[in-house]
Amino acid sequence: MQSAAAVLGFDEALTKVLQHATDLPRPPSEPLALLACGDRVLAQPVLADRDQPPFNRSTRDGFAVRASDTLGPLKVVGQVRAGEQWRGSTLEQNTAIEIMTGAPTPAGADAVVMIEHVERTNNSIRLLAGRLIRSGENIVPQGSEAQAGQTVLASGSKIEGAEVALAASCGYTELEIYRRPKVAIVATGDELVDLAATPGPHQIRNSNSYGLSELIRHAGGEPVQLPIAPDRRPELEQTIRSARHCELLLLSGGVSMGKYDLVEEVLQSLRAEFFFTGVKMQPGKPLVFGRLPADDQFPAQFFFGLPGNPVSTQVTFHCFVEPVLRAMGGSEVQGPRFLQATLAEGLAGKAGLMRVLPARWTSNRVRPEVRLVGWQGSGDLAANAQANCYAVLPPDKDHFSTGDVITILLR
Ligand code: AMP
Ligand code: MG
Repeated sequence: MQSAAAVLGFDEALTKVLQHATDLPRPPSEPLALLACGDRVLAQPVLADRDQPPFNRSTRDGFAVRASDTLGPLKVVGQVRAGEQWRGSTLEQNTAIEIMTGAPTPAGADAVVMIEHVERTNNSIRLLAGRLIRSGENIVPQGSEAQAGQTVLASGSKIEGAEVALAASCGYTELEIYRRPKVAIVATGDELVDLAATPGPHQIRNSNSYGLSELIRHAGGEPVQLPIAPDRRPELEQTIRSARHCELLLLSGGVSMGKYDLVEEVLQSLRAEFFFTGVKMQPGKPLVFGRLPADDQFPAQFFFGLPGNPVSTQVTFHCFVEPVLRAMGGSEVQGPRFLQATLAEGLAGKAGLMRVLPARWTSNRVRPEVRLVGWQGSGDLAANAQANCYAVLPPDKDHFSTGDVITILLR
């Protein structure tokens, strides 16, 4: 099949994937009601429709003052609440105006003293001993968060609670949102049966198509599950052809060295270009990445041939498919979410292969700690579900000790 020269190191393979992700065109977009935009990707810039804050805003309940006056006593000459504007004259020397959090500061005031920091007698206030107030204190100046017309959210931002609140504060009731890319899932293997069937003693349920569907949805794609393809060339070719209307094709299984691993061969017969046909990692070594050429009907289509072992399928998805899929959905190109954590137990690495092993991280307030989940190898879905991340162990080290800081991949 493909030459061994196309088996790349982990970082090299990731660089290749990210290069292709960078070249992707922006997807089409559609307008959506603000509350339907959660977890989707913004296809327009969001602009401040006015200065934010729209006035000099008090951040405290207290008294608006002139900072230079605060040796006091200051006569309290009025009050301004949130939602009101001070209608009296400019604040005069040695006077103060009672003010509530969120209210506009009166003209002439350049600071707000917290209510807890003054002593009030009848109609005057005095700063408590030892308290100082500086000009500008407890006031957020008009336009300091954003100026009218300024971009506050860039196109390509993922919409979550923070973004919805910001767009709402700028008056948006709907947003232009990128369409989700369609991702075809083709599980291959003579041993596979669908969930509706009862597996015979030597058969396996097609769990990969279901797991992948959820991973795709989570990464911003729309999964399209195609029927299981048996390990026979004509049917496999037919199924791959039927997936051409999707933006991305994911195949699972059939990419190892076995006699019935036909995925690469069939893709090659369809004139596929291969960017790599293996990655020096474990699990996940047989991973294939390439592109089918454009034809009269369809544009070129990227594909991944994922190893069929269920944990390998999911690990390679997180490392390589997810960055491409997110970029196809209009997000800024980003690699997998790597973090650092401290090893709670020592462990062995494997020279020559990047290991990406199911692990659990827990965080006390000071530092995240990680330990491997016991597993029976890359078919162990139960262990994978016990994990909440993967420990990423570089190929150049064969032992890791308790207390070592290692890389983890969040999922
Ligand atoms: P393969 O990559 O085709 O050699 O498959 C490797 C292992 O993964 C075999 O034990 C398969 O039974 C298992 N496997 C392959 N495809 C699936 C799938 N869609 N769902 C669950 N297990 C699978
Ligand atoms: Mg197979």
